Amino acid sequence: MIKKYYLLSPGPTPVPEKVLSAAAEPIIHHRTPEFSNIFMETTEGLKYVYQTEQDVFILTSSGSGAMETAVVNTLCAGDKVITLSGGKFGERWGKICRAYGIEVKEIELEWGQPFTKEQLADELKAQPDTKAVFATLSETSSGTVYDIRGFGEVIAGMDTILAVDGISGLGATPCPMDEWNVDVLVSGSQKSFMIPPGLGYISFSRKAWELVEESTLPKFYFDAKAAKKSIGKKTTPWTPAVTLIIQQKKALDIIRSMGLENLFKHHRILGDATRAAVQAIGLELLSKSPGNILTAVKVPDGVDGVQFVKLMQGKYGAYIAGAQDPHKGEFFRIAHLGYMGGFDIITALSAMEMTLLELGYDFESGQAIKAAEDILKENWE
Ligand SMILES: *Cc1c(COP(=O)(O)O)cnc(C)c1O
Repeated sequence: MIKKYYLLSPGPTPVPEKVLSAAAEPIIHHRTPEFSNIFMETTEGLKYVYQTEQDVFILTSSGSGAMETAVVNTLCAGDKVITLSGGKFGERWGKICRAYGIEVKEIELEWGQPFTKEQLADELKAQPDTKAVFATLSETSSGTVYDIRGFGEVIAGMDTILAVDGISGLGATPCPMDEWNVDVLVSGSQKSFMIPPGLGYISFSRKAWELVEESTLPKFYFDAKAAKKSIGKKTTPWTPAVTLIIQQKKALDIIRSMGLENLFKHHRILGDATRAAVQAIGLELLSKSPGNILTAVKVPDGVDGVQFVKLMQGKYGAYIAGAQDPHKGEFFRIAHLGYMGGFDIITALSAMEMTLLELGYDFESGQAIKAAEDILKENWE
């Protein structure tokens, strides 16, 4: 068989053909009116996805660089923060903060378990001098979406700010920054934004910007004040990733023409179909609060989870994601994020069924695909 490669991971995600070909165009200089126009149109498009009136800054870094930007621009050494850690990425907030001498109260959640706004309110009552709460919209390591709206309600009347990692969730599931009182919102280009890896995005509320003015943590490349000064001149402080920004503008045109609500609905349909499919053959979801960005599925008893992912990728070319440490081999993750359509999940589910059969799992072949098709058929527009 021809070895065909199907990118079905929760980042990087597939890129629309029109957006891919934009990378082959000649490079334009970044200090030109032509580039300034594209740059400002891109930031406008990002503001649309963020649903904010504030500036959205474009950083030349992956999403983690935008996370670091959130930390170094709002805090001072010795500040106390709370981080919600329900997986690999929630854990990263704590790692970044500790690297800068921040005192971290890390709330360790079991992977896939929700955390309520009441629980957050209790934590803040116990620790009233908390300067910031760091949370995750969609924890990509477990496929869980957290109650950011609820967290924003808790924090709204307080001095504490709410910083949210929206790296896989933003653009796929609702998180209107201004309406939900999110103070710092970060994201990355290779998840729901339909372009290759390499850009990070960040926006600060007015309340967060007051902390930016006072922040004393060391910073240079990721200085938000430098970005703010430059955006006033329709540019960036350093050489921007010109090509990626042009690609992002084209992808944002697609996103805007579809509309955020329709995009959320699209992800919901793919999420519903994937969940129904795996449950139809007796598999269990990992998350108690699964999002529509990706679906984490427990590897059934008797099946070797590491072998499962190896076969999916190596034999069938279906690049789903496995589980990260310390849960390696326990579950696998099917993405339905960004530029993926109904038939992408059918591909993933078909490869999943064939792999499970090969590894001796007992089920009625075809039932997962049928369950997904039933939902796709009903909702296809
Ligand atoms: C992918 C991801 C990150 C890390 O982003 P990089 O682009 O790899 O730096 C952080 N948080 C979440 C939720 C992610 O999905």
